[in-house]
Amino acid sequence: MMQYLDTIQPELMNITRLFGIPDSEWEVPRYTYSAWADAGRYHCRFTDGTHTAEASVAIPPHEEEERLLTLHRKRAARRLVRQTLYDLCRETTGIHPPWGSLTGIRPTHLMYEAIGLGLAGEAAKQYVIDRFDVQPDRADILWEIAQVQGQLPPPEDRWMDVYIGIPFCTTRCTYCSFSSGELGKGKLVEPYLAALFHEMEACSGMIAATGRSLRAVYVGGGTPTSLNEEQLRRLLDKMMQCFPGAMEYTVEAGRPDTITPGKLEAIKAAGVGRISINPQTMNDETLRIIGRAHTARQVIDAYAMARAAGIHHINMDVIAGLPGETVEDFARTMAFARQLKPESLTVHTLAIKRSTRLHFENYRFPTGVEAAQMVQLGLETARALGMQPYYLYRQKNMAGNQENIGYALPGHACQYNVDIMEETTHILALGAGGISKRVYEDEGHIGRAPNVANIEHYIARVEEMIQRKRELFEVPAQ
Ligand code: SF4
Repeated sequence: MMQYLDTIQPELMNITRLFGIPDSEWEVPRYTYSAWADAGRYHCRFTDGTHTAEASVAIPPHEEEERLLTLHRKRAARRLVRQTLYDLCRETTGIHPPWGSLTGIRPTHLMYEAIGLGLAGEAAKQYVIDRFDVQPDRADILWEIAQVQGQLPPPEDRWMDVYIGIPFCTTRCTYCSFSSGELGKGKLVEPYLAALFHEMEACSGMIAATGRSLRAVYVGGGTPTSLNEEQLRRLLDKMMQCFPGAMEYTVEAGRPDTITPGKLEAIKAAGVGRISINPQTMNDETLRIIGRAHTARQVIDAYAMARAAGIHHINMDVIAGLPGETVEDFARTMAFARQLKPESLTVHTLAIKRSTRLHFENYRFPTGVEAAQMVQLGLETARALGMQPYYLYRQKNMAGNQENIGYALPGHACQYNVDIMEETTHILALGAGGISKRVYEDEGHIGRAPNVANIEHYIARVEEMIQRKRELFEVPAQ
């Protein structure tokens, strides 16, 4: 059994982080474990010097072919070790993490596992709770999300989504983890668009060539509306020429200061039904701290402009746990959300990489309890607006080990968001940093073809990016 566990420490550190235990505790070394097998069971004992937790699990029996048997035994051993450490941390800290011992980014998969076993309602929720010690309110949300997703066109092999990336922003948010570049004087924009349009044309026939149909198109980044009006118009024309007939088109208009009546008119005229205008917070001081060059007032004006342009679906992104923010600050942002009445609301919880922390070293971060209160306020606001949760994902290092949840009015769930999060639909991704995905449903495997993230490299190597997609989807060159 020990041979299976040689590489497990990073996973174990993910468990201790759930309890706010610093990674340095592993250097002491504070945590030690022993693992052994006897009488048809794996055993594991964890200790932190003062407390000990011990557990065992049956060794999967010899009824499978050798490769599967090894895999199942390896999984059983890892689960046992992770769970024993989790029990030890829960006992010694008294903390019950909202997602229990789950450290993955897609908790919905666990609910779908329960549904796949024929469970429904309370029984499905209980399965999720028992399996990973997930808190009951989170199990409720997972069940509700599965119900909402169940009303969308089912994910089938015949569908493909398209992602088009515009990797420019007017300024860089200090928490940003995307590969977007600052617009600066805009020198790279025209060469970038030329390469992107070439990639769009070259890939326009790929969906039909694989015998599939287009489902949703998402223009993200970056901030696509950081293009000027004429460039945005050309982009949307090219999009409709190359990828017509999708069920849903979304354009990220994230920064309110990039939005003009002319750009909204271009979006509307192209037939795009959904845009995203993202305040993140309605607190001007926080907006300054996180490097967004706009004010709360500009958010209000942008919403008014979009409504005047006849945009009927606006999504709003907010972030709980921003540096220096209190629960009251977040409550104020939520009060604005109630006034602005977006059709969908995505409540993120701040997840920051260690390097990004440097930007914020003078600011206090909300505690886990405060982050939980903010997330709860997000939920209450969405409910007050008549919305339901429809997708959810987690990231590493999220404040209070919370989550990101997308809420929407009935009939307004974003198909693309569901597809990308559930990883059930093929994605053809264009532009710098886009990652195309092919879903091999039967094998439970995703094939990927990433485009390079660096803008200049993308421009220089666009032919290679096209070829990668041809290979992934097995489309011969014309
Ligand atoms: S708007 Fe989005 S992509 Fe642009 S810098 Fe901010 S977080 Fe990054």
